[in-house]
Formats: sequence, C-alpha cells, structure tokens
Amino acid sequence: NANISKRKFDVVIIGAGGSGMRAALELSRAGLSVASLSKVFPTRSHTVAAQGGVSAALGNMSEDNWHYHFYDTVKGSDWLGDQDAIEFMCREAPNVVIELEHFGMPFDRNPDGTIYQRPFGGHTANYGEKPVQRACAAADRTGHAMLHTLYQQNVKAKTNFFVEWMALDLVRDADGDVVGVTALEMETGDLHLLEAKAVLLATGGAGRIFAASTNAFINTGDGLGMAARAGIPLQDMEFWQFHPTGVAGAGVLLTEGCRGEGAILINSKGERFMERYAPTLKDLAPRDFVSRCMDQEIKEGRGCGPNKDYVLLKLDHLGAETIHKRLPSVYEIGINFANVDVTKEPIPVVPTIHYQMGGIPTNIHGQVVTQAHGVHNAVVNGLYAVGECSCVSVHGANRLGTNSLLDLLVFGKSAGKHIVEFVKQSKEHKPLPKDAAARTLERLNQLEKSSDGIYAQDLANEIRATMQQHAGVFRTQASMDEGVKKIAALRAKVANVTLKDKSKVFNTARIEALEVDNLIEVAQATMVSAAARKECRGAHTVDDYEHPADHPEFPLGRNDKEWLKH
Ligand code: FAD
Repeated sequence: NANISKRKFDVVIIGAGGSGMRAALELSRAGLSVASLSKVFPTRSHTVAAQGGVSAALGNMSEDNWHYHFYDTVKGSDWLGDQDAIEFMCREAPNVVIELEHFGMPFDRNPDGTIYQRPFGGHTANYGEKPVQRACAAADRTGHAMLHTLYQQNVKAKTNFFVEWMALDLVRDADGDVVGVTALEMETGDLHLLEAKAVLLATGGAGRIFAASTNAFINTGDGLGMAARAGIPLQDMEFWQFHPTGVAGAGVLLTEGCRGEGAILINSKGERFMERYAPTLKDLAPRDFVSRCMDQEIKEGRGCGPNKDYVLLKLDHLGAETIHKRLPSVYEIGINFANVDVTKEPIPVVPTIHYQMGGIPTNIHGQVVTQAHGVHNAVVNGLYAVGECSCVSVHGANRLGTNSLLDLLVFGKSAGKHIVEFVKQSKEHKPLPKDAAARTLERLNQLEKSSDGIYAQDLANEIRATMQQHAGVFRTQASMDEGVKKIAALRAKVANVTLKDKSKVFNTARIEALEVDNLIEVAQATMVSAAARKECRGAHTVDDYEHPADHPEFPLGRNDKEWLKH
C-alpha cells in the first residue's frame, strides 16, 4: 500500500521499559540492527515507577543464598510457578544485579560499600524462618535508577529508538512465523510496516483494564492484545496481584519497602493485626495473604474512616530522618495524594490492582510457546516476549515483591542472547505476506468511516468498571459468570467505536481507540480465565471456595521442609 512506509531491521523490540532495554543491550552490543519502539520516551516507561527494589541473594548482609530465594518464590507463587524457570532466575539473580551495578546503577550502600538490601514480603532466610534482606534498593526509586542506567547503556550501544511509535499488529506468514509488525507514528499519524527476523514484545503490564490501579495510563496491554489477535493463547490471566498498600481513593502505590523498613498496618483499634494472622512474617507476609487479612479486618468492622473501608499504614515511628533518606517518594506521595505527612501520622491504604502474573507464554529464552497444531510447547518462530507482558511463569499465582525487576533483567538478557543466535542463523529476512498490513488497514479504515458510535474513552471506562466489579480482589463465582457475559457484550461494541476527531497529527482519540482493541482482549481473557478456575489460588480469591493457603507458614497444609527434600 502506497500509504505505508517499509523499513527493515534484524530485530524490532516493542517496548523500551526495563525488559525491552535489557534485551536491546545484548542485541545492539552484538552489532545487530535494532528498532526499539515505545509509546513514550524510554525513561518514562512504567519501570520508572518501581520503588522498593530488585531481589538477589547476594549474601552480604545476612545469611542468604539462591536456594532460599528459590524456595520463597515457589511458595509465594502458591505452588503454581514453573520451578525450572524459578531456579534459573534465582541462580542468575546475583550475576545480573552485579552486572547492573557495573553498568553504573546508583544503588544505596552499606557502610562497608556493599549494595544496600532491605527485607520484603515473603523473602526469608532458612526456608521461612525469618525475614531476610534481599531487595537491592536505590532509596524508593529503584526502577527510576535502573531505567536510566539501561537507557544510558543503550545510547552508548547505539540502539535505534523510535519514540512515540505505537505498534499495532504482528505480521505472521503462511508458516505461522512472525516476520514483522505494523506501527503508527503518533506525531505524524503515518503508518509503517517494519520487517524483522525477530520481534520481541516487551510492552509491560495491562493494569489499566481495571478502574483502580497503581499502573500508568499507558499500561493497556498492547502486546497481549497483539498476540491474542495473532492467534496466540494467553496464560494464567486470572492471576492479578493486588498490592496491599495503594493510597485509599487514589490508587497510587506506597512501596512494600515501607514495611521492609519497619512500617506496620493497623486497624481502627490501633492494633497491629498482621501479628495475629502471620506470627513469623507479620506485615511482611506475601501480598495476596496481607490483602486478604486487610479485607477480613474491614469485613469484621475494624476498618478506619467514616465508612470503615480502609486500614492504616503507620510509618512515623521510623523517624523523619529514615523516611527522608530511605523513602523520600513515599513522603511526597503522602503529601500530594492523601494530604498526610507520613513522618507524623498514618496514611489510609487499601489493596489495589498492581501486577499481572499471566501473559504471553514463553520459555526461559523468551521464545513464545503455544500448543499450536497439537504440539505441546511449540515455539512461534521469530516471536519473543519478556517482562510483565510475558509469562515464563516464575510468579505463578502470586508474585513476590522485587521479583519483577529481577525477571526483567534475567529474562531480558537471556532473550537477547537467544535472539542474537537466532538472527545469526537466519541469513535472509523471510518474505512478507502480500496482505501483511491487512488487519491494521481495515481497522484504521473502520475508525475513519465511523460515526454515531461510542467514544473510545467511554467504552474503556465501561470495561474498567466491569472488571473492577466482577474480577476485583474478592471474587464470587456468580459475579464472575455475569462478568463474562458483560465483557462479551462490551466486545461487541468495539467495532462501533467512533472518532470525534479524525485528524492525523498526534490524535490521542485514535490512539485511545486502538488501545481499546487491546484492553478488550486482556479483559476478556482475564474474565474467562477467572470464571473457569474453580478454586482459590494465590491472588485468585473466590468467596465460594476455601482458601487452602491461608496460613503463609504452611500453604496448602504441606510441610515445606519435607517438600523441599523431594
Ligand atoms: P514497562 O516498563 O511498563 O515498559 C513497557 C514499554 O512498552 C514502554 O516503553 C511502553 O511505551 C511500551 N509500549 C507499550 N505498548 C506499546 C505499543 N503498542 N507500541 C510501542 N510501545 C509500547 N517490581 C519490582 O520488582 N520491584 C519494585 O519495587 C516494584 N515497584 C513497582 C511500583 C509500581 C508503582 C508499579 C506499578 C510496579 C512496580 N513493580 C515493581 C513492577 C515492575 O515495575 C513492572 O512489572 C516492570 O517495571 C515492568 O517492566 P516492563 O519492561 O515489562 O514494562
């Protein structure tokens, strides 16, 4: 088509957050031609918001080793994580963190010069005996420091960034191989077809399918939508993590690093209620468990505020000096989003949507795997995924805090290495199919001709409200079944999305409309998967079923130490 410009690269990476940039570094350093696309400037990607730390059993501040890290992650996943992948990640953790330090990452330091580490939920020493300091931190701005470090290294390695370019659809050829991608240049409204030997999806999370979320507005699940439209099934989509400490009413996150530094949760009686539920780990029990305990307190009338619908996070006993040194962003968030000075008084918190455990299924090399043609774990040639949009299944049914930044580093690097070999073996680009941009063009045409339909923003809000109501922290079977029907009905409205403004240049209405295509894919996959899982597991809590893991020290009633011997 004359209106589409064509370009050719060895690799196209969609997403310039932590995972995409870690992978890009391997590729650019190996001399490949790399196009790194991002809806926003790379250092505004959502990794920038990560606060608390990146986990690694460095073993310098306390007795720690990768076996403990492995055990905590398997247990934290409610026994659903892929144990081979978890082993790979925990063994690699010290290497990738030290490597990041050598890239220039400004970690906080202990007096002896080693990397500062703080305790975090579910991270323990000696198989659950006591909390351990495993979260390597740069104050409460770890993601910010990491993203800037990776960006600087990529600039040095000459990665080509395409800023404010929105990828729309994957191109698959007759063999099912991925050979390219279509993309919209947001500034001009021009359409591009990018040919590649390999495409890497690194588009981050999709928390914006919910109304209340700690996620940025760009987290609309574009990579998942693109994969689903290309016929790739998504995995574990029922598992959405609720972070226990979102600022009540605002959704903004207060890092678990607060509790790592000694903050506590209290109810309306001023009681530190986590002591009752988890005598060993207390406020540092895994997130799914803490969220359920908070809800229990609220349900039993011990919530705070006029409607008794939140609990409080108390930090003032840490002292103003520690708060300003270790948790400066938390102080600012308190002032700006709750009008609370956390050095003086407690701040209202509620469990808030935070992280997606499921995603595009991959192996440890980032290769996308499906069960296509009846073949279990068949690889989709030319397609890779890393970061929050992917599911190598190291988080299972519930992620431990700080394991996500680790996931980005470990699997970003391993995917990068695999792609380098894959590209070396593929001497020529495979030819693009004739109808490579057909779906993209059809959709853009449909939007162009649309009139009298629904505005994208209104439909997005309907999707978000439905997901919040029917797939929120506490689910019931009847409500999820109803949610499945409502989301199917909303899907039918997508074809009627109308553009108020049809101009080309930086038309945010068009971008929102294209994002809705992805929101609906993720919402439907989540709703259908949630309704289909007839048990409580990790973050998937359903009133109709017993939660066998409600004692964090003995999830599923197993004797952990016995289990570990097998
Ligand atoms: P992102 O960093 O979200 O990057 C996604 C990229 O994809 C962006 O560049 C975006 O522009 C691009 N993109 C998306 N769609 C398109 C498209 N269609 N076309 C082109 N580009 C596109 N984890 C931890 O381990 N420790 C923490 O302390 C921690 N704190 C957190 C605090 C907050 C408030 C939140 C929300 C999360 C936190 N997490 C933490 C989780 C962690 O930050 C994320 O899981 C992780 O940063 C995601 O990285 P990513 O590379 O997958 O995606």
